[in-house]
Amino acid sequence: MPKTSPWHSIKSGVHHNNTSCNTGNNIERENRREGTGGKPLCNECANLR
Ligand SMILES: [Zn+2]
Repeated sequence: MPKTSPWHSIKSGVHHNNTSCNTGNNIERENRREGTGGKPLCNECANLR
């Protein structure tokens, strides 16, 4: 299973760590940042794990 480093949107209150997450994938490139940003994991990612 490939390791995915977390990312988040500067416009969102959650971070993502699953490449199958639609919400995470829909983040526009300009708003996307590496790391968790100190934010909780998104519910969609949590369900995909
Ligand atoms: Zn997510």
